[in-house]
Amino acid sequence: PTMAHSQALLVLENFIGGKFVPCSSYIDSYNPSTGDVYCRVPDSGKEEVEAAVKAAKDAFPIWSSKSPLERSQILNKLAGLIEHDLEAFAQAESKDQGKTITFARTVDIPRAVHNFRFFASSILHHVTECTEMPAMGCVHYTSRAPVGVAGLISPWNLPLYLLTWKIAPAIACGNTVVAKPSEMTSVTAWMMCKLLEKAGVPPGVVNVVFGTGAKAGEALVCHPDVPLISFTGSTLTAQRITERSAPHCKRLSLELGGKNPAIIFDDADLSQCIPTTVRSSFANQGEICLCTSRIFVQRGIYSEFLKRFVAEAKKWKTGNPSDPTVDVGALISKEHLEKVRNYVKKAQAEGARVLCGEGVDPLALPPGNQKGYFMLPTVIAEVKDESCCMQEEIFGPVTCVVAFDTEEEVIKRANGVKYGLAATVWSSNVGRVHRVAHRLQSGLVWTNCWLVRDLNLPFGGMKASGIGREGAKDSYEFFTEVKTITIKH
Ligand code: NAD
Repeated sequence: PTMAHSQALLVLENFIGGKFVPCSSYIDSYNPSTGDVYCRVPDSGKEEVEAAVKAAKDAFPIWSSKSPLERSQILNKLAGLIEHDLEAFAQAESKDQGKTITFARTVDIPRAVHNFRFFASSILHHVTECTEMPAMGCVHYTSRAPVGVAGLISPWNLPLYLLTWKIAPAIACGNTVVAKPSEMTSVTAWMMCKLLEKAGVPPGVVNVVFGTGAKAGEALVCHPDVPLISFTGSTLTAQRITERSAPHCKRLSLELGGKNPAIIFDDADLSQCIPTTVRSSFANQGEICLCTSRIFVQRGIYSEFLKRFVAEAKKWKTGNPSDPTVDVGALISKEHLEKVRNYVKKAQAEGARVLCGEGVDPLALPPGNQKGYFMLPTVIAEVKDESCCMQEEIFGPVTCVVAFDTEEEVIKRANGVKYGLAATVWSSNVGRVHRVAHRLQSGLVWTNCWLVRDLNLPFGGMKASGIGREGAKDSYEFFTEVKTITIKH
């Protein structure tokens, strides 16, 4: 790797007990659009995690005894401060992750701001349950209290967006946290730490420990004083976390991968469906757990769909992420790019047809981006359901299109993978969209749209896509412990 032309590297520090603290060793972090090392991330381990957990434990009594309204005001203040620096956060996220500046400006950072505002509001509106037993002279009610120190582990694809989706509900409920962002995308979490004091977040309430999953992540997962872990990442890592946390019987929330189908019936409005399905396949370089990667098209419209879909996909411009006219930025790492490319090669070796993108169309990159991790949006057809491209999560700008005949058949095929995160259904027949939505094994089903979210409602996956749900009520339940109290009068 070439160093960024003797430019000073950005050096991050852990944030523990309200203070930035250096670490004894560091990891290189790359700018995916140039291939240069530009940042050094603390390589934390047990010692740093121990210090962070202690700070979080010390801060818990005071933070947990504040009223929801006090905590809500602090969350709102923090939201405002991030929003004030939105452009700086967006630039940093784009540089660190490879995503386009447009996506960071319009999706990642606005959503991080919204996460704090949303939970600042929702925490004020929960009511607990109460039942009466007049014959026994008793009333029962439930009461909810924060659990303690929450361990939060997030992935690299939507860095600040997903980390704040955990921090906001955790601290709104009165927990204190130790967060570990992905070692590949740590910069915006570090920038957020700089705003905590000004927002009024007391020292120790939010601690951020940077480093790898194997060292820092496991130390957090194995720490006896961290009773709950909220994790977003791959299914493989979730299995490891489940094993490592089992001796402590920890409460786990696991938001994992997907292999999301789009089902397109012959009565779909293709003028809406095609641009949306191109977006659902290639947004954020296809690096969103909710991205579509299997497109089932009813046979009568298959050829027309394919033609129009490929034409639309080809319009997506791949290049320098900081160019606001670019639609597809760089993939997260050299290794990940190789992995995604290999899927395309395997599909070709199996006799599938690559209709556009990787290996088919030329990829012209600006001089400064020649060593970046870029790949064109790629559409594959005539691929078998058993193929790895139709079974495994690729997590890149690759989507497969296949034909189907009947409703019954397509439901079975759509459900025929280990994952169950999100699905989309396109049809103008109301009865059919309800029927199909009910039978899909998927935590989320979007019909005639994609990625329209109401944060009030549950988010999460079935099968290998996860355990637990997040949302206004679901996150509140996860981040609090419930007690049932009976009063005899
Ligand atoms: P990953 O599982 O490799 O890493 C996620 C996080 O876990 C990182 O912070 C990593 O350092 C940490 N980690 C790794 N090994 C660990 C261990 N042994 N103990 C503790 N922590 C450990 O995932 P990734 O490659 O960063 O992210 C991509 C994956 O995330 C994809 O599978 C994607 O579908 C999934 N994802 C899911 C959702 C969702 O909400 N369901 C959202 C975004 C991404």
